[in-house]
Amino acid sequence: MNPSLTPPAPAPVPARARARRRRPPAWVSWLLIGSALSGLHFALPALGASSVSQAVVYCLASAGGGIAIAIGIRLWRPQAASAWWLFAASQAMFTGGDVSYYTLTLLGEEADYSLLPNVLYLLQYPLLGLALMVFSRRRTPGRDIPAVIDASIITVSATLLYWMFLIGPMMSTSDMLPMERLATVAFPVMDLLVLTVALRLMFGGGSRGCSYYLLLGFLWLVLLADSFYGMQTLVGDYIPGSWVDAIWLAGYILLGAAGLHPSMARLGERPQRHRPADATGYRLVLLASATLVAPMVLVVQYFQRGDLNLLVVACASAVLFLLVVARMAGLLAAQRRLAATDVVTGLSTRRSLQERMTREASRMCRRGAALGLLLVDVDHFKRVNDTYGHPAGDEVLAETARRISASCRSQDLPARFGGEEFAVLVPQITTEELARLAERIRAAVAAEPVTVEGALHVSVTVSVGGATMPLHARTVEGLVQTADGALYAAKHSGRNRVLIGHVTGGTGSADRRFHPAA
Ligand code: GH3
Ligand code: MG
Ligand code: MG
Repeated sequence: MNPSLTPPAPAPVPARARARRRRPPAWVSWLLIGSALSGLHFALPALGASSVSQAVVYCLASAGGGIAIAIGIRLWRPQAASAWWLFAASQAMFTGGDVSYYTLTLLGEEADYSLLPNVLYLLQYPLLGLALMVFSRRRTPGRDIPAVIDASIITVSATLLYWMFLIGPMMSTSDMLPMERLATVAFPVMDLLVLTVALRLMFGGGSRGCSYYLLLGFLWLVLLADSFYGMQTLVGDYIPGSWVDAIWLAGYILLGAAGLHPSMARLGERPQRHRPADATGYRLVLLASATLVAPMVLVVQYFQRGDLNLLVVACASAVLFLLVVARMAGLLAAQRRLAATDVVTGLSTRRSLQERMTREASRMCRRGAALGLLLVDVDHFKRVNDTYGHPAGDEVLAETARRISASCRSQDLPARFGGEEFAVLVPQITTEELARLAERIRAAVAAEPVTVEGALHVSVTVSVGGATMPLHARTVEGLVQTADGALYAAKHSGRNRVLIGHVTGGTGSADRRFHPAA
């Protein structure tokens, strides 16, 4: 065979590169290793292993969380590396606490109230709080009052719960030495401080990748485990190796995964744009639930004491809270409707058009369909104002808007784009159909004069420019620009006409062209 005709053999892929390609990502590997260590921790007693080996496995999982973060910092070089180092240091304190706790327990000493493990455990909280603070300051620069208020609402509710079920009972237990009491109370107080900063992170701005959610998962699990631990020490039945340890272990695993996930690099990124105050239904439900905590506590007290007055006060305040929230939600909805509706024409405002345009662009992109946009400008409208006055001009605008709306399909969104300019967002349409819709609008406006002030007849015409995505533009900004260019060309080629697509030179040479004579 002629060697020159042999197709070139593909370059051999080095075995190491092949193996690397097959290997799961680092964060998934850590999730698997961490879960295996946790499983082993709980399986060891059944396998007859000593409590030393169980403690060693627990401490390995705990240390692994911190080591995973250190590896993640090396791998992904995050923007706020200092915050990640603080997380790693906080986890090191956790591990130090675990190691000294287990060592003392294995030596047969009372570890619950010993100085060393408690100091190490407590030191993790300021480090954790500092790390969270660095992130939330970077992610939400300046003052975000609504987020602060929302976080405060949840914090006050949580403080009430902590006081009623942890701190209060701990303070009033008679069989504790002052040092023991201090050590016990310090943990829920620290938890509350961490919760406050964590809520700032939750309600603030910034990107929300996988690492963000893993980190939140870690925080919630650790706070939950701390609370269960507090309740168990109150009744004196915490035993190392119980299900509470499983929650702590799950937290360490999530923290390590958060530090190893590639999105950890962007967690400290400053947001590009200012985030508007979040008042979604989900946020309102969360805040309303937080306000119901106080009446719920009263209900619990009613069951403990049997005082009917407590139940009446609880129900009345719960109903009052919910009525106030319902009223606020109604006000919010009315405000939203007002902000989304133009007062002269009753059409959508430019802001709601822009929001819908962004949503429709990604929806159409997913479906592989085209998104169309028409810009409609009233011709020589200044003359209408100058001849008949501003109020008459308003009537002309309102009637033009009505005729534009009547020409549209139910799924289209006509909006007032500004002054005497309108826009129609047209999802799922071909360029030919868009051109036909534009012509329908032009013809409907020009069909008969608009009657203003009950008697005057004003002849109105419009020029229309249009474009579709992805044919004429790749982005929504490009779509508006192309439609605007076509509108400009329609004006310059004589007004009262339609042009669709790119203007290729001269005046009015676009993909599709319609005018009264066409
Ligand atoms: P062209 O054909 O080039 O678009 O000419 P035009 O006169 O329509 O455009 P121009 O931009 O010169 O004037 C637009 C006018 O629209 C000027 C402004 O006073 C008027 N206008 C903008 N908003 C309103 C409104 O809400 N009510 C009334 N009555 N007039 C408005
Ligand atoms: Mg005009
Ligand atoms: Mg104009």
